[in-house]
Parts: sequence; C-alpha cells; structure tokens
Amino acid sequence: MYGVVTRNAEEVEWSEFDAGFYEVKDVTGRAAEPLSNAVNMISCFGDNAAAEDDPELVPVNDEGDPATRDQTYFDWSYICPTNERYREGLLEIIDDCVAENEAVRLDDVGFPRPEFCHCERCDRLFAESDHDDRMAWRADVIESFVADATDRIPGRAYLTLYPDPYPGHLYERSGLDVDALATHVDEFVVPLYDTAYGTTYWLETIASGFETRLEGTGTPFSIELYAVDVDVDDLIHAAEVAEAYANDVLFGYDASNAAAAIRRKRAEARDGVTHGNE
Ligand SMILES: [Zn+2]
Repeated sequence: MYGVVTRNAEEVEWSEFDAGFYEVKDVTGRAAEPLSNAVNMISCFGDNAAAEDDPELVPVNDEGDPATRDQTYFDWSYICPTNERYREGLLEIIDDCVAENEAVRLDDVGFPRPEFCHCERCDRLFAESDHDDRMAWRADVIESFVADATDRIPGRAYLTLYPDPYPGHLYERSGLDVDALATHVDEFVVPLYDTAYGTTYWLETIASGFETRLEGTGTPFSIELYAVDVDVDDLIHAAEVAEAYANDVLFGYDASNAAAAIRRKRAEARDGVTHGNE
C-alpha cells in the first residue's frame, strides 16, 4: 500500500494513493480540522506555539536548560509529557479526530532526550512513584499516555518512532519501551528521510534493524519517505528498498512527486521493469 503524508486536504483523495495521512496538529502547533477521508495525525509532545505561549510546558534537563528549538539538538520545541492539562488537550484532539475517522496516527510521542525531564512536576512525580529507576519511570509515563490515547482510537492506531532500531536506544532517548507500546499500537511508522536517496544502503540497514527489533511483537511497521524534490527514479528505488521490509510505504510532503513515482512504478511493474540493487 502506498500512502501520502500531507498538510493539504485535497491531496489525500488523489487516486494514486491507497491512504492519506493528514496533519491535524504539527510541530509548529498549527491546527487544522480533522478529515473524514484520512488518517489524522497529531504531533503530541512537539509544539512550538504552545511552548512559546507557555514556557512552563517545556521540559528541562537537570541544569534547567529547556528543550526548545533554539537549543542544540532540537528542531522543534517539546512539551513535558507529564503535564496533565496538556495531555487532556491532546486526548480532546484525538476525540475530535476519531469523530471524523476511526484511525489516528500519534507523532512525536516521548521525552526529548535522555537527560529530560527534570521539571518540578517530573521530579515530584518520580519521587512519589513506585520506581527507583528514572528511565523505567519515564517509560511508564509514556506507556500510560499511549494507553489512554489508543483506548480512544477505535480504528487503527499508528505511532511514529524516531528512526533508531538499535536495542535500548528509543528507551534511553525518549522513554519508548517498544515492546510495551506494541501491545497498545496497531502499526508503527518510521520516517526515513533523505533529500535525495542517492544511496539506500542505510535505508536498508535501518529498515532491517526495525524488522529485527519488532520481530515477535506482532506489530507491523511502515516506512515514511521524504518526497520533496527527490528525483523520481531515486524515490522509486527508495520505495522498493522500503517495501521489502515495511508493511506500507508513505510519501511525505510532495504529493505530486509521490504520485509520479507511484504511477511510474506501477507502469514498470506491468511492463516487467525492475529497479533492483543493480
Ligand atoms: Zn517535566
């Protein structure tokens, strides 16, 4: 199956795509009305606008440095996953989405990095918890959010993972216990972005790593490619590598280029042309 990931409502209907993923809330904090004919996507703990409006929402490390986009390492501003009011707001957005379409995709779930969060609330909640290990406590926080969120999603629940399949890395980085989360989620989505896909060995390595990592969880994964200004032949080749491992292949943010690649790929499949690892 080929899907498109977009901010433009009309593109989810294009005939080339088997599925459309539509950003209802992205990392800028921009909000849109959910669609009935798409899997609506919610950036959960990435939100520049919310972080700017209320700096108290932003996670801090033990030196008090915030996880905002002006800091090294961060491309957008994060929100602390233990903020109850913000979480309630996310659950309300999920309710609005499932009223339109039963499938929902959760993006940007997790803590920003291993050294977060040491806000007063997180320090207090950890001290009050049954956990001695802060990393285990973080994973518990994230799992309980994902459990609450997916309980409200009657259709397919997707969860986006940072593209690092190395054992223990997602747990240390973001507090994502993949095995525990797999019991709540129907499908993981792994974005493997490149601006050219001139080489694809790394794509194959990461995809194969996720195949191994998720083996035994019973939860499949899809790969999301970046389609903007990528040469169509290179995009087709990347898609062929991705689909050897992934359940579905999604194309991000350039529906025209994605549609062109899918059309040509299907035509070549009919004519028996392959883009193997020649
Ligand atoms: Zn916190």
